[in-house]
Amino acid sequence: MDETTAERAATTLNNPRWQKVLARDTTADGTFYYAVRTTGVYCRPSCGARPARPENVLFYNTAPEAEEAGFRPCKRCKPDQPHLAERHRILVEQACRFIEQSSAAPTLAQIAAHVGMSEHHFHRLFKATTGLTPKAYLTAQHQRALKEYLGQQNKITDAIYAAGYISSSRFYETAEQVLGMTPSNYKKGGQDTEIRFAIAECSLGSILVASSAKGVCAILMDDDPEFLLRDLQDRFPRSTLIGADVTYERLVAQVVGFVEAPQLGLNLPLDVRGTAFQQRVWQALRHIPYGSTASYSEIAEKIGMPKAVRAVAQACGANALAVAIPCHRVVRTDGALSGYRWGVERKRLLLDKESQARSRKDQQANQEESQSENCKE
Ligand SMILES: [Zn+2]
Repeated sequence: MDETTAERAATTLNNPRWQKVLARDTTADGTFYYAVRTTGVYCRPSCGARPARPENVLFYNTAPEAEEAGFRPCKRCKPDQPHLAERHRILVEQACRFIEQSSAAPTLAQIAAHVGMSEHHFHRLFKATTGLTPKAYLTAQHQRALKEYLGQQNKITDAIYAAGYISSSRFYETAEQVLGMTPSNYKKGGQDTEIRFAIAECSLGSILVASSAKGVCAILMDDDPEFLLRDLQDRFPRSTLIGADVTYERLVAQVVGFVEAPQLGLNLPLDVRGTAFQQRVWQALRHIPYGSTASYSEIAEKIGMPKAVRAVAQACGANALAVAIPCHRVVRTDGALSGYRWGVERKRLLLDKESQARSRKDQQANQEESQSENCKE
């Protein structure tokens, strides 16, 4: 029998799979299984159990083959079940679906109960798998749902009409009469860039959205659509202006949604054109959070040029990206609204809207905080 034992050991030692078992190589999991004669148990290559003696080891390609040969699955590495990482992924996915499908934000206890885990273990698993706490995921989910609401073709119609948005195709029907030519032929100067644009209506009046290949290059507002088109033409005299098509109208709807609810953010690339100084001012403006304001002198301080208050005001006036570069959040030192490139009344409306959204959000955050105290990091 000794000879046979030695032979069996040699067979195992010569099998490259044995090295993977000794190394507990997780990358080998699923490619084969090993069984141990003395225990009657079969394992994954990466099983943390103490290595068996090579003469007692048998290799199988699949778990059913090992079971057919009379072996039981190891209780430690559960070779008959999806891999641990896979099981965790499935649990986390179940939790995510549960969160998405709940009408009200579920508590950590509810989510954990749904996947049959303790709160503590679930929180750790969720964080390890997604990189987010369940609470952060809930918040992100909520924001995504809002953005989706504004982005969905069928629902956007409701959002658009709620916002007083009128399809820009109607504008094009009359544009020929207004301009004496169709928008796509409406060119001036050279043709170094092509700019697509559309005009829509929002609660602040007419709004023009224009994009270059790089990103959104103009968001302009006025009561008069014709003036908006002239303004665009003056700002980009050497570009070819192209009237929007259906795909572009989706983008316009997104921008209108953002102007109506700046707290949602605008996930579109911007093509910001200006002098180095203007760019610095605009960058500083983008750091003013919605719902708050800064004075011209504060912005001048922020960019390290405290005496350039007038130049800051001029840079604000030259901004071509209304709301996306929030020049409406700059007020006089005494808090007075002062000027706004697109009219003081619009500035007031925007600031009111933002402070309302801000206080709603703060209220909601307080509620969520008390609802999901256990969800803390
Ligand atoms: Zn095992």
